Amino acid sequence: MNYYNLKDAEECVSFKKASIKGQGKEKGLFFPESIPHFTEDFIQNLNQFSDEEIAFQCMKDFVSADIPELELRKIVSETIRFDIPLRKINERISVLELFHGPTLAFKDVGARFMSRCLSYFLKNEHKKVTVLVATSGDTGGAVADGFHNVPGINVVILYPKNRVSPVQEKQLTALGGNIAALEVNGSFDDCQSLVKQAFSDEEINSELFLTSANSINVARWLPQQIYYLLALKQWQKTENNSPVICVPSGNFGNICAGILAYFRGLPVDHFIAACNANDVIPRYLTTQVLEPQKTVPTLSNAMDVGNPSNFVRILELFHENFRELKDQLSGYSVNDEETLATISKVFKEDHYLLEPHGAVAYHALESYLENHPEKKGIILETAHPVKFPEAVEKATGSSVEIPESLKDLMKKDKKTTEINPEFEELKRFLFNQNS
Ligand SMILES: *Cc1c(COP(=O)(O)O)cnc(C)c1O
Repeated sequence: MNYYNLKDAEECVSFKKASIKGQGKEKGLFFPESIPHFTEDFIQNLNQFSDEEIAFQCMKDFVSADIPELELRKIVSETIRFDIPLRKINERISVLELFHGPTLAFKDVGARFMSRCLSYFLKNEHKKVTVLVATSGDTGGAVADGFHNVPGINVVILYPKNRVSPVQEKQLTALGGNIAALEVNGSFDDCQSLVKQAFSDEEINSELFLTSANSINVARWLPQQIYYLLALKQWQKTENNSPVICVPSGNFGNICAGILAYFRGLPVDHFIAACNANDVIPRYLTTQVLEPQKTVPTLSNAMDVGNPSNFVRILELFHENFRELKDQLSGYSVNDEETLATISKVFKEDHYLLEPHGAVAYHALESYLENHPEKKGIILETAHPVKFPEAVEKATGSSVEIPESLKDLMKKDKKTTEINPEFEELKRFLFNQNS
């Protein structure tokens, strides 16, 4: 399988190239040349396959030209080495829990898959690669964990000082080794702009081999399809009709992977993009005008995105046919007040503890189901409540217990280098680290 650049289809590269480069010319996203279909037999009998086999079948057509079968089987089994359970919250809404990975957020799957692919590709190339990434919280932790101790790779993470939660900060700063955390005296936007400058700086790129690990990388985007297959595998045990699937969305990578799986033959009744106050896509779905906005800070901060990068891939899947897109995808915008009220209500009525991102999805799905009384659905819960303790405690009045797996991490020391949002400071750090 080759991947073409959505901004310039002439640029067409292998999976290996696409995952190492991250993005194409003019910052274009890579997109698979064809959409491989699942067989009918596979889709109707998912519960007869192990999770590892499903993950392998899901990924093989996308990467088999670059990664041999045995190696890929090893990579996918390491990628999903934790539970991804589907639980019923109530009669009409189930939840796919994507937070049982090492950093308690769904980004673990993409980050683990990508790190193992890069490590395979770089094994025989004696060059050191620096993964440079800006994070508002979850991405950094998942990337740090995914790449920790991977030979040949240094990771440099930029995060805004005092703007990530305590658990998130530990996940970025306590691992050490090949993972360096830069605490930036500024906002997430400052971090992102420093990273962008580094990628376009000639001096840096002539001396260091930089790559990005953000969600537009095909090696992070594509493995997210696995969630939707595992959801359906569990859904089919008790339900006859296809589910509505509601995804808390920021950069739209996760939901786009689900829609890709749908185009490959996975039976999904309808998709819902659940957004917070950053509602560019819900507005697009009513007005057909795509108008990026300045980011608004909210309680579900991993979705505070004013210009969702992956949406162009969704448009490509639908060949820009707006009517077909609207038939299959709805968008909702949920504010902070509704988010807290939803956490509180679901905790009281159903004894299920949501965190803000999952609560945005729950509220959106509930609104949709009110108008579609014959349907049932699944929300994706993308993080563990302990990653957003303030909001959860405010809504429920009780504190969130730290899971066993985090206790050791919380005891470790934080190691960071503080920098100002000045490009020269980042540059100096990168050169010192590699000298
Ligand atoms: C990143 C993230 C999202 C948004 O996912 P996208 O693929 O960017 O749409 C939602 N919830 C949590 C907890 C996240 O970390």
